[in-house]
Amino acid sequence: MRQNPNRKQNSPKKQWVFGFLGGLSRLPGGDGESRVHLLGGKGAHLMEMCKLNLPVPPGLVISTEACISYYENQKKLPQNLTAQVAQALAGVEKATGKKFGDAGNPLLVSVRSGARVSMPGMMDTVLNLGLNDQTIFGLIKASHNERFAYDCYRRFIQMYSSVVLGIDHHEFEQILDHHKLSANAARDTDLTAAHLKAVILDYKKVVKQKSGREFPQSAQDQLWGAVKAVFDSWHNNRAKTYRKIHGIPEEWGTAVTVQAMVFGNLGDDCATGVAFTRNPSTGEKLLYGEYLINAQGEDVVAGIRTPQPILKSGSGGAGHTSSAANQDHPLAKSKKTLQAKGFSMQESMPKVFAELQRLQQKLERHYRDMQDIEFTIERGKLYLLQTRSGKRTAAASIKIAVDMVKEKLISQKEAVLRVDPQSLDQLLHPRLDPDAKKELVGRGLPASPGAASGILVFSADEAEDLTHRGQDVILARQETSPEDIHGMHSAKGIITTRGGMTSHAAVVARGMGKPCIVGASSLKIDYASATLSGNGVILRKGDVITMDGASGEVMRGSIPMLRPEMTADFATLMRWADGARYMKIRANADTPEDARAARKFGAEGIGLCRTEHMFFDTSRIAAMREMILAEGPEQRKKALAKLLPLQKSDFEGIAKEMQGLPITIRLLDPPLHEFLPHADAEIEDVARSSGIPAHLLRERVHNLREINPMLGLRGCRLGIVYPEIYAMQVRAILEAGIEVKKKTGKSPQFEIMVPLISGEQEFSFLKRMILQTADAVFKEKNTKIPYIIGTMIELPRAALRAGQIALEGCEFFSFGTNDLTQTAMGLSRDDAGSFLPEYEKYRLFAKDPFVSLDQEGVGELVQVAVDRGRRASADLKIGICGEHGGEPQSVEFFHRSGLDYVSCSPYRVPIARLAAAHAAIRHKSIRATKTKPKARIKSRAGNVRVMKKKTGAKKQPSLRRAA
Ligand code: ADP
Ligand code: MG
Ligand code: MG
Repeated sequence: MRQNPNRKQNSPKKQWVFGFLGGLSRLPGGDGESRVHLLGGKGAHLMEMCKLNLPVPPGLVISTEACISYYENQKKLPQNLTAQVAQALAGVEKATGKKFGDAGNPLLVSVRSGARVSMPGMMDTVLNLGLNDQTIFGLIKASHNERFAYDCYRRFIQMYSSVVLGIDHHEFEQILDHHKLSANAARDTDLTAAHLKAVILDYKKVVKQKSGREFPQSAQDQLWGAVKAVFDSWHNNRAKTYRKIHGIPEEWGTAVTVQAMVFGNLGDDCATGVAFTRNPSTGEKLLYGEYLINAQGEDVVAGIRTPQPILKSGSGGAGHTSSAANQDHPLAKSKKTLQAKGFSMQESMPKVFAELQRLQQKLERHYRDMQDIEFTIERGKLYLLQTRSGKRTAAASIKIAVDMVKEKLISQKEAVLRVDPQSLDQLLHPRLDPDAKKELVGRGLPASPGAASGILVFSADEAEDLTHRGQDVILARQETSPEDIHGMHSAKGIITTRGGMTSHAAVVARGMGKPCIVGASSLKIDYASATLSGNGVILRKGDVITMDGASGEVMRGSIPMLRPEMTADFATLMRWADGARYMKIRANADTPEDARAARKFGAEGIGLCRTEHMFFDTSRIAAMREMILAEGPEQRKKALAKLLPLQKSDFEGIAKEMQGLPITIRLLDPPLHEFLPHADAEIEDVARSSGIPAHLLRERVHNLREINPMLGLRGCRLGIVYPEIYAMQVRAILEAGIEVKKKTGKSPQFEIMVPLISGEQEFSFLKRMILQTADAVFKEKNTKIPYIIGTMIELPRAALRAGQIALEGCEFFSFGTNDLTQTAMGLSRDDAGSFLPEYEKYRLFAKDPFVSLDQEGVGELVQVAVDRGRRASADLKIGICGEHGGEPQSVEFFHRSGLDYVSCSPYRVPIARLAAAHAAIRHKSIRATKTKPKARIKSRAGNVRVMKKKTGAKKQPSLRRAA
């Protein structure tokens, strides 16, 4: 049987308690991280601040191991804990000159919770512990301030009773309010000692009544009651839920810090506050925070009184959150304290402010990161009570990282690692002005971020129509299908009432970088009356609405927005990231506009150009349908002839935008049914333009229907059954290339990609066809351009046959991880919405496998294919073009697997660039030490094998290679 390592260490000598008493205190061994594991973030950093000789009230930490032991032993405290705490507490008594539980000069302590990672507001803390009916007199004597002492006592009873005795805090708030009312006091600080004494009597009555016992008078009982309550709070519902959401393990446990109290509520030269060493929303290098005069810790966040800014207004973007601060607030007139007049700490306490400035700089230099600090001022002396790395927005994290490099605090690589790639999403889309008023109509799933306002429409055609007339529109549908593409393309944003995060609407919208809300089931769309209703509001076609794809909210009217700004700091950080990464980043782009967006975001090529999207356009779908419904090859060729110039001009446009960067073009892939006309009117249309009788067309539509089109006549099977289609596409690609070369003098780097093969036979069959077509085109035009031929790997069998496929002269692989996930897991992406939530609830999948690659299963297929493919052909170019190409964890996996590039939607390119840099800094790619292949594309002579010999001869070791 496996021994529990902790129990083994549960010997009488085991150290559970660590004291901190200023600069001489002994830190437990190990590095900073292991100290955080042992002492919790709060305890570890308090000790570390002590070591730095910063003003921290003395105290002790009970380790997380004690908490773990408590839970392992049916909530019994480990033996020796009491003795160890008593010993450490004696040290605190000596340092403060006070005694715990002593009626003459009592030591009061706080009992604070703190796990490895901060779980704000989830667990409990008790202040002023050690007060009772005797020690209160000692506190009065020592402080010469009766009001203060009773204030501490009433706070203590209130906190202890709610945290430890489990009495609802409202009971106490009611009593306090009642006394304030009868004393005609506007706020707590207006209550006199006599009032507070009366409050305390009432508090004690409630305790007796609710708990059946007197309020505990022994300081020791209070202490252990509080320690156990903190341990217990690890398993309260709030904390459990928080851990579930944030993936924090149950086993970690919490530490408990017991620390001598310092008092911010002793008068007007006292205060308490919180501060960030830099502005957490902009990153500006200015102390940012709030404080309250004559108050105790929890008051600042409790919202009972309005805190004031630390920095003087106008001192350069203090960016204070509450507007009450500097105005003639009604309360401000009633009291003549500096606080009430809204003075900043800089003005009212200039000396302490200067000290705070000095210490915060010291902390930043030590931790080399922006800090979030809690402090208290007792009679003009500053104490630090907590420090941790501060939470910040994406914009702030970029600015802070870049500034810290300039300040020589961190290296460029560290700066790159400081910015979470996923968070860039916040920056790349417009967002709603947070201060604007909103009238909420409904809410759905936040499928694609960004905010948009526009005229409400309910059909794709209307969306396109109004957009052509220069209007901004929001398209609302029950759900979308490929036939709505043109409308989605035109609309500023898309809302559906059905579907999940991976529904058609969601996937397409993310690809387009458009705001999208799906599954808004609280909204009702009635197509017949053209209305959208929810929350008691009925909106009609033509009404203006606003949507926020980041929050999932749908609102009435137009709401002001903030535009995204690509700052110089952003560019700097991305430059550093680009210098650090090994993989190239490409974009999935189907049109010249997409290609331009992709280039703007830094794409180094197109990894997937889906030719079918070009056919959904209203002007083209007719010719496409004619082609599909053609009776035989001759008729099909006639229809294809109409499509050829359209495709050619698309490819030319894209090639121009990409200026010689590689462009992977996928030959036609989707099941034909997606293009088919269904309504009678549509069939009539096709009949008219093709000359085929309508009844024959209807029969063809019927015959083409498939039971499971996903695995039906699609992908390379189309090219095998209807060779004319691929021949036309190859011709369009090469003619476009020749045209571009003629105009610009430079050949585009086209890479022709065959979709959905399951093995080498299909590949070599189609490769031969492609080569034949190419020969014909080159002969006709009497010129040649270079290009390469490769395939998608999106079926498990293709991954297994990768070696043979490469031997057939396949020059590149591109993993289609969307289909590979569907086919490997037997999961239909469009239907997964009905069961994925349960899978996630029961943790059957750690994550939605369509969002983050299933590394264990699908990932192994990827690795097998890379391995077999490269063994057969060492310089096989390998990339990935599924949605996973823009998801940081998947990007890291692809880096480790040795891929040459990832390709994602244009709007995710910066995320992928940064994620690839993170991956390269943290992990070596198995590819990084290998050889740099020659750019084959320039020397393609139609025979791949000959070429490979040539490139194989020259091997240059290099970190980066052209992908
Ligand atoms: P949280 O994790 O909820 O922030 P803390 O343990 O940090 O809880 O306590 C909250 C606040 O209580 C602190 O910010 C500080 O202002 C106050 N506090 C805690 N310990 C002390 C102390 N020893 N002396 C004075 N104030 C304290
Ligand atoms: Mg705190
Ligand atoms: Mg596919």
